[in-house]
Amino acid sequence: MTEKRTIYLDHSASTPVDPRVVEAMLPYFTEHYGNASGLHRQARASARALDQARRDVAEILGCKPKEVIFTSCGSESDNLAIRGVAWASKLAGKGQHLVTSPIEHHAVSHTIDQLCELFGFEQTVVPVDEHGLVNPDDVARAIRPDTVLVSVMYANNEVGTIEPLAEIGAIARERGVPFHTDAVQAGGYLDLNVDRLNVDLLSLSGHKFYAPKGVGVLYVRQGTPLLPQQTGGGHEGGRRAGTENIPYIVGLAAALRLAHDERESENARLAALRDRLVDGVLAAISDAQLTGHPERRLPGHASFVIPGVEADGLLMHLDMAGVCAASGSACTSGMPEPSHVLVAMGVEHTLALGALRLTLGRSNTQADVDYVLEILPGIVDRLRTTSPVYAPVV
Ligand code: PLP
Repeated sequence: MTEKRTIYLDHSASTPVDPRVVEAMLPYFTEHYGNASGLHRQARASARALDQARRDVAEILGCKPKEVIFTSCGSESDNLAIRGVAWASKLAGKGQHLVTSPIEHHAVSHTIDQLCELFGFEQTVVPVDEHGLVNPDDVARAIRPDTVLVSVMYANNEVGTIEPLAEIGAIARERGVPFHTDAVQAGGYLDLNVDRLNVDLLSLSGHKFYAPKGVGVLYVRQGTPLLPQQTGGGHEGGRRAGTENIPYIVGLAAALRLAHDERESENARLAALRDRLVDGVLAAISDAQLTGHPERRLPGHASFVIPGVEADGLLMHLDMAGVCAASGSACTSGMPEPSHVLVAMGVEHTLALGALRLTLGRSNTQADVDYVLEILPGIVDRLRTTSPVYAPVV
């Protein structure tokens, strides 16, 4: 039996490490392995690499190197941003109210929930429209005198919608409230200049832009109150204890630079493939609907709900045909749960269970898109034939 080719369409979940990034990292595993806090030549080599990586990241974010904190992942960056600002504000007796959106990644929403449940904080969750967009006026209305942080993501992982960050940031700044954004899905694709975006804290994760898993960044604007959540040594300016993972940090900086330099041409290529995919799916599969914003969306991001199919079955059939895809719903204790993102956008419960996310990346070609368009309608037809509930919309 010939092995089916693999078509990877799950770049929002993770990306392969770019070979140029591996190349940049290699010397820091076996040649320059010193602890960057030491005083000898090995330590100095690591410290120089750390310093250079911090300056490279800062250049792309348009910030000062000391405003860049390296972390272990996007989740940690989100946790540190929210908990760090909330704790510092509480300590300063400033207030205990946070403003956020209902479509955040759980790294943000569960951190805020925990602050509310265990530490007496309160949250206002502003709504999103049917495309997953936050209205900046709602943020303005939600901010109170005791608000200590606004946290709204840059681009959504499930539906690809890009939020009006600069407008939200301008409102938060006018009201004197720090503004955090989870930019994990935006890293490598969208403008990350922190001044243009009006953000005070910004989270990134290396594995979303062809660096390894297990390394992230938190940008913190100078003057923003932040307590460390991980205590120990004085690493990262006393804001994140733990010996720095130099090879991974070098890899993240190299990957961010490559993505930044190639952004314009790669985004145009991905957007053309995405549009072909979206148009093809909507034309070939009756009743399929695009989720997320039709224009304000990540360049490689295509997401749908398909009535009459259940996401897990669809993903299994796609996998058998060689296609790696994702959905938005999580299955816990055997009962499929609709995605909180789709629910917040007003998508009906059973429809939300048929979510499909196809996210393109560097390796994908037009042939990949055409292959998916060739096999997907047949799979959907088969699943619908066996569905006890599906009746076509007339
Ligand atoms: N935030 C968003 C929007 C994400 O999509 C993800 C990962 O999928 C994360 C945070 C968490 O990042 P990490 O996997 O690096 O912890």
